[in-house]
This record gives sequence, C-alpha cells and structure tokens, in this order.
Amino acid sequence: MPSIHTLAVHAGERMPRPDFTPVATPIYHSAAYIYEELDALDGVFAGTREGPVYARYGNPTLTALEAAVASLEGGEASLSYASGMAAIHGALLGAGARAGTAVVAAQDVYGATYALLTRVLASQGVTVRFVDGTDLAAVAAAVAELKPVAVVAETISNPLLKLADVPRLAEISHGAGAALIVDNTFASPYLFRPLQHGADYAVHSATKYLGGHGDVLGGVAATSAARRTTLNEINKLVGGNLGPQEAWLVLRGIKTLPLRMQRQCDNAAQVARWLAEHPCVTQVNYPGLPSHPQHALATRLLERGGFGAMISFDLRNGSQQMVFRFMEALQMVLPATTLGDVYSLVLYPAGTSHRALDAEARRRVGIGDGLVRLSVGIEDPADIMADLDQALRRAG
Ligand code: PLP
Repeated sequence: MPSIHTLAVHAGERMPRPDFTPVATPIYHSAAYIYEELDALDGVFAGTREGPVYARYGNPTLTALEAAVASLEGGEASLSYASGMAAIHGALLGAGARAGTAVVAAQDVYGATYALLTRVLASQGVTVRFVDGTDLAAVAAAVAELKPVAVVAETISNPLLKLADVPRLAEISHGAGAALIVDNTFASPYLFRPLQHGADYAVHSATKYLGGHGDVLGGVAATSAARRTTLNEINKLVGGNLGPQEAWLVLRGIKTLPLRMQRQCDNAAQVARWLAEHPCVTQVNYPGLPSHPQHALATRLLERGGFGAMISFDLRNGSQQMVFRFMEALQMVLPATTLGDVYSLVLYPAGTSHRALDAEARRRVGIGDGLVRLSVGIEDPADIMADLDQALRRAG
C-alpha cells in the first residue's frame, strides 16, 4: 500500500480512458499529456501524428475552440491566443513581418494595433505605412511602392465604422505577394467571413462578440492549415497561449453568437436611427444608415441584413468634458473599456482605445474630441435609448 504522500499525489488521477463522450468539451487543466507508448509521443514531436503533449504546444479545450472558430469562419484551421492583440501580432509574424520588411495598414485601426505597428514592429526594423483603407487607389499605391509582407484592415473599423472592401483589398495584396490580415472583431463571422472573400487571416479579439459576456480575454486567428502550422510553430516559442478556462468560456459564448448578434444588430439599427435625429448629436457613424458613405458596400458585403452593433457619434459642440458628463450621467449603459458584450457599453476613444494616437494623428484619422463609441447590447432598445436620452440632455 503506497504511503499517504504517494496516494495524495496519484490517487484518482489518470483513470482508464472512458468509452463515453462528454456533451460539453471539458476544461483540460493539464500542463502535460502522457502516452502509453513513447513512440506516440515521439510522433507528436516529429509532426507525424496529432495530439497534446505540453500545454504551450496545444490543449484539447483549445483545439475544440479552434475547430469551432475555423468552422464559423469557413477556414481550414485557427489558432487561439491569450488576447486579440497576441492574435494580431501572431498573424503579422506568421505573414513574415521582420526587419527589412514592410506592412501597410488602414489608418483607423484599433489604437493598440496602431501602436503595435508603430512602436513594436517599427522598432524591430519593419517599415509601417498607414493609408486610408477606404481609398483603394492609395492602398494600391502603397502596396506597389513598399511590396509589404502584409496588409492589415478591420472589416468594420474601430471607432469610425468604416468598411474594408475585403475582396478588393485581397486582390491588391495578393498582386504584390502580400498576405491580407483582416481583424473581424466588429463583424464576427455571423456578418462576415473574411477568408471566404480572399483574406489570408481572419483575426479576432475573442474578448468581444465571440466571448460576448465580458468575462474573458482571448484572441484567435483563422487561416489555412499551412499558415496555422507556421503560427503554431511561432507560438510554441513565444508562448502567447490562451488558457483552457478562457477557451471554454469563449466556446460557450460562441454557442449564442448568432442569437446575440442578431438581437444586437436589430437594437443598434434602431438606436442609430434614433441618434441621427437627436438634437444633442451631430454625426452618427453606423454602416446601416443610408447616410454612411459605404452603406452600399456594407449592404453588399455583410450577411443576414445586419450592420453590426457598434455605433459612434459626435456630441454637438462636443469636448472631453462634455463626453465625460454624458458618460457619468448614464444609469444603465456602462462606461467600460470593452465592446461586444451583452451589456450596452460606451467608451471615449480619444482617451482610451485610441489614446496611443497623438492629437494630430487622431485629427487626421477623424477621431474628434466629442466622439463617443457605443456598443449596443441585448437589453430592450427602449431602455437603451431612454438612458442615452437622459444622459445626452444632462450633458448638453
Ligand atoms: N481588435 C479590435 C477591433 C479591438 O477592438 C480590440 C480591443 O478592443 C482588439 C483587437 C484587441 O483585443 P484584446 O483586447 O482581446 O487584446
């Protein structure tokens, strides 16, 4: 009989392999995996067979999430990451960004993506050029001049809600041998699947719509099987892995993605139309409004009649102080630094998500001092509008 010290370590562990299958994917909290035959382990290391060996190389809960995202995105494979930023960084490295290469990016990408390119990659010798992603001639000129390894755009941009013409961007990128990386966070695969339109990577902050409940940080990059192998080889070395608990939360969130997205798109369409008529608001950016300069493109590209659930708008005579008064006056809508949750959320881009841009860069991109970003949740739209209305009137 082993001693209590030995029993405490081993008793109950490594039960015989079951002949049943759990309905929901279990959370595999194991750093390493053993095989009965060491040849099997050797085969995994040699790449001749699949299987988990060490959590930085892969984990069954993550594999389940990655299979789910690949299916939703219509791609061959995907790789999960500890955050959306890690996924974007991974895709850039996978596309070949290194000293002596170039990257072309849409100028109004998420502030941290902008800073990743200007601070981290540029300091490592990557030439970075920002262009207006809606000006295809400007993108084509930059691509022809720089011969970049990657072009980066967001399907629906943060926070100005500009649309990326992914099929045309793919043509331009591929014409010069560049990979197209599309951040599909705002659209989610419910509205758009970049890989089906020629993109090489569809990346997500899974923290947002995929997770959907504001309780997890994660990222994922969907791509071809060959590119996924490269991403995984890099990630095995840099170790930006998602944890199994987080993967499980995202996997669970995904089950209601279509229900949430449909409801949030419907709510946002109502709220955007109402805001456009509001006396305290001057400009409403929402691809579903006929006044949006790319409304026709959005109608053509986005599926299921939805236009997303993100809106941005300018307060009349807006300033940081006025935006802060508005945000503090809200009773139900939450002034929180995230988006895509079941809750409705507001954020001040100039001071948070896009703080990494200096005032001149923000002005050039079009992020004004009175701009508010609203992520519309699944609440009753009448309650969302009532709360916005009382706060707008108190701030104005
Ligand atoms: N991409 C977009 C469009 C985002 O809005 C964000 C975060 O707000 C990210 C990427 C980064 O995601 P994460 O915060 O999960 O790293």
